[in-house]
Amino acid sequence: MTDDFISIDDSPPQVLIVDDSPINVRMLEHALKGEYQVKVAIDGPTALTLVEEEPPDLILLDVMMPGMDGYEVCQRLKNNPLTWHIPIIFVTARNDTSDQEYGFNLGAVDYISKPFFLPIVRARVRTHVNLKRRTVLLENLALLDSLTGIPNRRRFDEVFSTEWQRAARNHLVLSLLMVDVDHFKAFNDNYGHGAGDECLRKVATALRVSLIRTTDFVARVGGEEFIVILPECDAENVRCVAERIRAKVESLHIPHRHSAVTNWITVSVGCASIFPSLDTEPRILIETADQSLYLAKNKGRNQICG
Ligand code: GH3
Ligand code: MG
Ligand code: MG
Repeated sequence: MTDDFISIDDSPPQVLIVDDSPINVRMLEHALKGEYQVKVAIDGPTALTLVEEEPPDLILLDVMMPGMDGYEVCQRLKNNPLTWHIPIIFVTARNDTSDQEYGFNLGAVDYISKPFFLPIVRARVRTHVNLKRRTVLLENLALLDSLTGIPNRRRFDEVFSTEWQRAARNHLVLSLLMVDVDHFKAFNDNYGHGAGDECLRKVATALRVSLIRTTDFVARVGGEEFIVILPECDAENVRCVAERIRAKVESLHIPHRHSAVTNWITVSVGCASIFPSLDTEPRILIETADQSLYLAKNKGRNQICG
């Protein structure tokens, strides 16, 4: 049955049942355990702990519970940026439309009323798990460049900001490489845009495989421009990585008879390093790498600078 789910990985979707009544828990668990990985919490605080440990794909939340009620659990989850995206279905004996309106205003996606009609429970859960998984999929897609499959500028902005803050807090060096394909306009003009696209894919792959540390990061940030983030990498090591990238692209031997540099596709690389602080503009590192790239271009391309 799980074949029908929008698949992100092979694991079945996780559903958390939060209900203080053992009979309700048993019924819901029985209805769902064939298709889902089911977890149970019998009170609000336990539910919050479980969600924090491992966010489920969906929560079935009883409204009436002693101590912290379902509304409060919902409110807390919706106020936490790490959990606000998890869909919550309220389970309630109350059929009052104003109660339901209250729950929807708190951010619930649906209501299931007691006594349960299990086929309806299954249908609602399935709908919302699928919606949630589809949303996650789209968000992930939008962080990748559709031509090359590597992260895009939006993702770069996020990672760069995170790494800048991390380096500033821990007094660590942070480095950037700005990589630009040489004479790419001439390549497109002579071999066609399709060949140009294919070339960009190969260059992206070459960049990706040239990076060794798991925290190293590469994104396509413009037409034929890429940026590499190298956390905790000092100026000397940065030049090593930059040279590895330059050599790797040249070794692809993608013919470019109209390049003024060689007969192959080449890249120029601008390097920059900084010890970030929280009151420095991150932009300065990008601008410095850009200036280095400009120098590399002026000095004849197919080289690294900075
Ligand atoms: P330089 O060595 O100074 O960098 O010269 P260049 O020709 O590479 O630089 P320029 O900025 O003049 O041209 C960049 C070219 O990149 C122009 C554009 O046609 C091409 N380009 C940008 N994005 C894409 C793309 O997605 N696919 C293809 N095929 N070409 C692209
Ligand atoms: Mg170029
Ligand atoms: Mg360019």
